[in-house]
Amino acid sequence: MAVKANKHIALISVHGDPAVEIGKEEAGGQNVYVRQVGEALAKQGWQVDLFTRKANAEDPTVVEHAPNCRTIRLVAGPEAFVPRQEIFEYLPTFVEALIQFQQQAGIEYKLVHTNYWLSAWVGMELKKKQGVKQVHVYHSLGAVKYKSITTIPMIATTRLGAEKAVLETAERIVATSPQEQEHIRTLVSQKGNIQIIPCGTDIHRFGSIQKPEARSALGIAPEKKVVLYVGRFDSRKGIETLVRAVGRSQSLQNGNLSLIIAGGSRPGQSDGIERDRIEAIVDELGLREITHFPGRIWDDLLPQYYAAADICVVPSHYEPFGLVAIEAMASRTPVIASDVGGLQYSVKAEETGLLCPPQDDTAFAEAIDRILSNPTWGDRLAVASRQRVENLFSWDGVATQLSELYLELLTETLMEQHLEKAIA
Ligand code: UDP
Repeated sequence: MAVKANKHIALISVHGDPAVEIGKEEAGGQNVYVRQVGEALAKQGWQVDLFTRKANAEDPTVVEHAPNCRTIRLVAGPEAFVPRQEIFEYLPTFVEALIQFQQQAGIEYKLVHTNYWLSAWVGMELKKKQGVKQVHVYHSLGAVKYKSITTIPMIATTRLGAEKAVLETAERIVATSPQEQEHIRTLVSQKGNIQIIPCGTDIHRFGSIQKPEARSALGIAPEKKVVLYVGRFDSRKGIETLVRAVGRSQSLQNGNLSLIIAGGSRPGQSDGIERDRIEAIVDELGLREITHFPGRIWDDLLPQYYAAADICVVPSHYEPFGLVAIEAMASRTPVIASDVGGLQYSVKAEETGLLCPPQDDTAFAEAIDRILSNPTWGDRLAVASRQRVENLFSWDGVATQLSELYLELLTETLMEQHLEKAIA
């Protein structure tokens, strides 16, 4: 019996708008993941709709990214920024809007791929109401997050409940690293189907420029030793550890050191407040002269920043995957990262970079000194980094694995329908 699946799918990312500019407080890895996976799947013949909550009245309702890949913004709650811990109450409206969209557009999704626990809840409701199959990626796990923070938010119980329920009811949970799979099993539930498919990166864009060209484009002198951070201003990202590590490193005494801390922030918002806090530490340690805050780096300049750096540091307290690490590695820049979560998977200690205990600025300082004092070894780490990303983390490779998973699940749906008909 030849059974062909309808290749129309929905990726749901309630709080991470895939069409928004990246680098702001709520715009990070999840937005990049959903957008890149969507576009790569569209290239492989899928019709991809990315659903998010409309968080700005001026934003267009539909944004076309590429042929067969678009973002659709649904109105659910105020058309204004709402922090993710306050979005839950608007989810029933989001579900209704998504069902209404399908009715109006004459589309019926058989499979939804949900991202983060808020979207997991939406997916579970759609499963109840429409019988869709669900693939889910956590992006962050409440059970891990609440271990590393002191004030547990009100929403914690709801979140933990949804994260357990989706594990036990979704057709497949996609873990982005073996470490995440382990956390899910030990901290959430033994039940449910988990498969590992990593996050990806654009191996053509990152790695397209060499260090000398990148430095001259950015006006960085060839003899400078450049240590780079890229990411959001959030205390969980551990920027403080990096600044203190640079402050106590031998490389600082040797001169010519430059620390670049790149990422967007908005004055008065939580990312702006964290940036002020980091700047105060920079001043306290007398590092103002060597530290640069270029703000959010746009897509076109990001490959140059990574390529210009001698080291990229990812000092997160916890990181479910950490796209920045593989972007830097694809750009032939060794990574020094915290020995946590997905970073343990992407960074191979002593082969592509180094891993340090989180929040241990002495260990980060030693790691920075080891690489900067031995440029030949740094070059070897750089070559191995690029190779590792090419082998494991390209978006096209990730999309191929997701595509196979969707087809497997959709074919099951069709077989079930055929059987039901045959029995009736
Ligand atoms: N990013 C960017 N410009 C910036 C800062 C960050 O484009 O100025 C991007 C970065 O390249 C990466 C994403 O934001 O793709 C951050 O993802 P990651 O998984 O490292 O962290 P998250 O933000 O999800 O915690």
